[in-house]
Amino acid sequence: MSGKKIDTALVSAGRRKKFTQGSVNAVIQRASSLVFDTVADKKHATANRAKGELFYGRRGTLTHFSFQEAMVELEGGAGCALYPCGAAAVSNAILSFVAAGDHILMIGSAYEPTQDFCEKILAKLNVSTTYFPPMIGERIADLVRPNTKVLFLESPSSITMEVPDIPGIVNAARAISPDLVVMIDNTWASGILFKALDFGIDISIQAATKYIIGHSDAMIGTAVSNERCWDQLREHSYLMGQMVDADTAYIASRGLRTLGVRLKQHETSSIAVARWLAERPEVAAVHHPALPGCPGHEFYQRDFTGSCGLFSFILHQRLSDRQLSEYLDHFTHFSMAYSWGGFESLILANQPEELQAIRPAEEIAFTGTLIRLHIGLENCEDLIEDLDAGFTRLALL
Ligand SMILES: *Cc1c(COP(=O)(O)O)cnc(C)c1O
Repeated sequence: MSGKKIDTALVSAGRRKKFTQGSVNAVIQRASSLVFDTVADKKHATANRAKGELFYGRRGTLTHFSFQEAMVELEGGAGCALYPCGAAAVSNAILSFVAAGDHILMIGSAYEPTQDFCEKILAKLNVSTTYFPPMIGERIADLVRPNTKVLFLESPSSITMEVPDIPGIVNAARAISPDLVVMIDNTWASGILFKALDFGIDISIQAATKYIIGHSDAMIGTAVSNERCWDQLREHSYLMGQMVDADTAYIASRGLRTLGVRLKQHETSSIAVARWLAERPEVAAVHHPALPGCPGHEFYQRDFTGSCGLFSFILHQRLSDRQLSEYLDHFTHFSMAYSWGGFESLILANQPEELQAIRPAEEIAFTGTLIRLHIGLENCEDLIEDLDAGFTRLALL
């Protein structure tokens, strides 16, 4: 990491002349074939194909190299592998480090498709998974087995937003098994609000689909690795055919340029909305990592440098189907959609039993409906007015 402040690094990272060729941004170099002028050039490219020499499209072009270099400057580490989406980054990172008979430790509050990958793909390959509750802390040590190869984290928890004690978990697990490969789904922090590699984590994964793309119009995954794991992650992902088209890599690079200001606005607005919600009589709890009342808030304060637009709150009441429709079908500014991280506000509801079904390691501690919000870049007073009208609709039913 350079001595630059993060906003400066976001603007300048990956913009070496070699990649920009005189324009401000990296060029979009679309290619499968890359032409060698001489036998010597071909020999040189082949020898250095994993080190940023143009070789063949699947290894990347100047556009990819620029984005990858930027990600390494921002997150640290030795290299960044690119994937067609976040789910591919998660599955290929894990697959790169396990063999039949191995065991992995998976946080029990991981993004649902990550859990499904363990159940439906890893299980088929005879790789077993143990889920652990996000607030396990040092008790993780009891779960490490001789064949445990990967420890997979996600912070904050998907949907319910608890913030785990990452250094507590990582250090306790490594004390038992120093060679463990530790990975984190670091999407919420965009790789910059939580510097995973500084906490002893080997691989920081992002659905860059979310905040890096930032406009809900493209998908890409990233996995930034430290020196120890880089060669294996890169080569195994390459062998599994993981790559991204140059246009999408370009859009991701462009997203970095405004990520700093976007995140700050998402954070300011989401904290204002969360504070307003915390005062409402309908609301039992607000889980925003930056506010007290979120499980693990103390770990957030210790380990993170900021927050973003995604959080959730829990109603006292479990809404009926009719109430859910009346509440969710009529918002003006909040759209109902999976995903998040774009400029627009989103809302989704989860019933406690739906959440229990994706919490294999613990009992859900609440009985009301959980609402997840992504606070976009709209004026936050408009958003609060919209949420207020939602509560009025419920009260009138
Ligand atoms: C969206 C998301 C993913 C998957 O990313 P895609 O690009 O949709 O495949 C993985 N992890 C988290 C935390 C996500 O929010």
